Amino acid sequence: MAATSCFSLLRNSLTLRALQNAKTPFVFSSNLAHQTYAGLPLLPGRTLCHIRATNDEEASARAAAASADSGAPTIFDKIIAKEIPSTIVYEDEKVLAFKDINPQAPVHVLVIPKFRDGLTRLSKAEPRHSEILGNLLYAAKIVAEKEGILDGFRVVINDGPSACQSVYHLHLHVLGGRQMKWPPG
Ligand code: AMP
Repeated sequence: MAATSCFSLLRNSLTLRALQNAKTPFVFSSNLAHQTYAGLPLLPGRTLCHIRATNDEEASARAAAASADSGAPTIFDKIIAKEIPSTIVYEDEKVLAFKDINPQAPVHVLVIPKFRDGLTRLSKAEPRHSEILGNLLYAAKIVAEKEGILDGFRVVINDGPSACQSVYHLHLHVLGGRQMKWPPG
C-alpha cells in the first residue's frame, strides 16, 4: 500500500512522532496483534504503514536540509517566475499564495515571499525581516477570507529537518475546511 494512502487511513490516529515523544512506553509483543500503547491496542498493518510513511518524509526532509544554504533556486522560485504552473489564490507585489500540490486539508494554501532575502527558513529571521514576516501573516488572513475558512483555520511553518521542512524558501501553510486536531503530530 502506498505510503500516502497509509497516511489517509491514519488521519485520526496517533502519529509515530507523538508516540516517540510520549513518556508512556510502547508495549511490543511478538504477537503483532497484541502491540499496545498506553493500554490501547495498535493495529499492526497501520502501525508499520505509518512508520514507513513517516520515515520517507523525514528522509526527504534531511536531504532537503543538506542543500538548504546553497542559494540554489527552489521549486518556489520557479513558481514565482511562472516557469512551472500553480493555482494562485492571492498575489501582490510582495507575496504569492498558491494551492499546495499535496493538500492535507480541503483548503491547503502556501504563502511565500517573492523576495526571500535569505529566509530559507524562519530560524534565519533577523530584525530586518519583520516586514516580510508581517506581510506573510497578513496574506494568510486574506487567503483564509478568500477561501471561506475564517471560522477556523491553521497557519503552520515547518522549520528544519525535525519539523519535516522540505522546501527551503520560507512559507506558511494555511490549512482549513475541516476540523483540525491537536496536538498536530
Ligand atoms: P514543507 O514540507 O513545510 O517545506 O512544505 C513544502 C510544501 O510544498 C509541501 O506541502 C509540498 O506539498 C508543497 N509543494 C512542493 N512542490 C509544489 C508545487 N510544485 N506546487 C505546489 N506545492 C508544492
